[in-house]
Amino acid sequence: MNRSAFVLQEMGLSPLWRPRGEPGVPNSPEPQAAAVAETAAITVATPPRVAAVASTAPVAAPAPVEVNEVAPQTKQPHTLPIQDWDSLHAQVAACQRCELAKTRHNVVVGRGNPTARLLIIGEAPGEQEDRQGLPFVGKAGQLLENMLAAAGINSEQDVYICNVVKCRPPGNRNPAPAEIASCASYLQWQIDTVKPDLIVALGRFAAHTLLNSQAPISTLRKQLHHAHGRPLLVTFHPAYLLRSPGEKAKAWQDWHQVKCQLAS
Ligand code: SF4
Repeated sequence: MNRSAFVLQEMGLSPLWRPRGEPGVPNSPEPQAAAVAETAAITVATPPRVAAVASTAPVAAPAPVEVNEVAPQTKQPHTLPIQDWDSLHAQVAACQRCELAKTRHNVVVGRGNPTARLLIIGEAPGEQEDRQGLPFVGKAGQLLENMLAAAGINSEQDVYICNVVKCRPPGNRNPAPAEIASCASYLQWQIDTVKPDLIVALGRFAAHTLLNSQAPISTLRKQLHHAHGRPLLVTFHPAYLLRSPGEKAKAWQDWHQVKCQLAS
């Protein structure tokens, strides 16, 4: 199996699309494979500025991205006396500012490179994250790792990953507005300190929170938003992709768009 086929298999997008006329290729490709073909058939050169995010996967020319200037999110200053990352971890570990403190096993602050150009923000810790104290370590986390690898993004070096709230909501329910508000200063400090060139909101909940919007994710995808003083793209949460594998081809397009945005 060549590299392209391996990457697409990791994304759950195999079988690899091949042009008609090749031996053994039917005249009409499967719908999912056809969608992948849109992104897999063209290669884009990686500019020097993103050399650290080296490309290892077939990539496509980006679809036009509509810049959402309609409702830019105003950057809110963080108000907590957080001096550095150790201080952040210590304050979050001791935090009792909302009800989630009563049921958590561990706080989940974030992981990755705190000076990364890409900041990925999810919703809230799940069961495995609550047990291990790290974000995206369950099945959804493995899929996220596969998607990042397929896009040529190193999850340890090129990315910092965190969630909107730092403690697990019981039963994986959505965080309540009061809980989000209580935790907002920590997230704002992370955004201000990482100073990413791009934020990626994973899933409807994170997108709605960061953009102060209730628009469906189908509307929010493929738009370059601005939130908390930073450019922001929206894609599916990997947990949703595990339930809806037919959407992986769209997610692949989103992650390629992330790559292109970092290169611009
Ligand atoms: S979710 Fe945030 S505000 Fe609530 S207890 Fe955890 S760290 Fe504190």
